[in-house]
Amino acid sequence: MDSKKGSEALKSINTGRFHIFDVQHHSGAGHQQPRVSAVRAKCGACNSEFIASEEGSLTAIFGGAVLSCPSCGQRQALGQSVFD
Ligand SMILES: [Zn+2]
Repeated sequence: MDSKKGSEALKSINTGRFHIFDVQHHSGAGHQQPRVSAVRAKCGACNSEFIASEEGSLTAIFGGAVLSCPSCGQRQALGQSVFD
């Protein structure tokens, strides 16, 4: 891993069960920490690509979020550092 940050908008993060391509954060003021609002990801089990949002496949937990595949139901808890 190199230490470059911020310049690569489209990098794929392999979390073990998912590949994450893009992360969107809430940008509104009033939150101490930026929260994840949506994630574009590909499931490593069934290869389906999907966008997980808070209304669906993305569940915020303390210190991160749980991502789940809408096609096969695979889930993984991801730390906040994955989304930074
Ligand atoms: Zn899947």
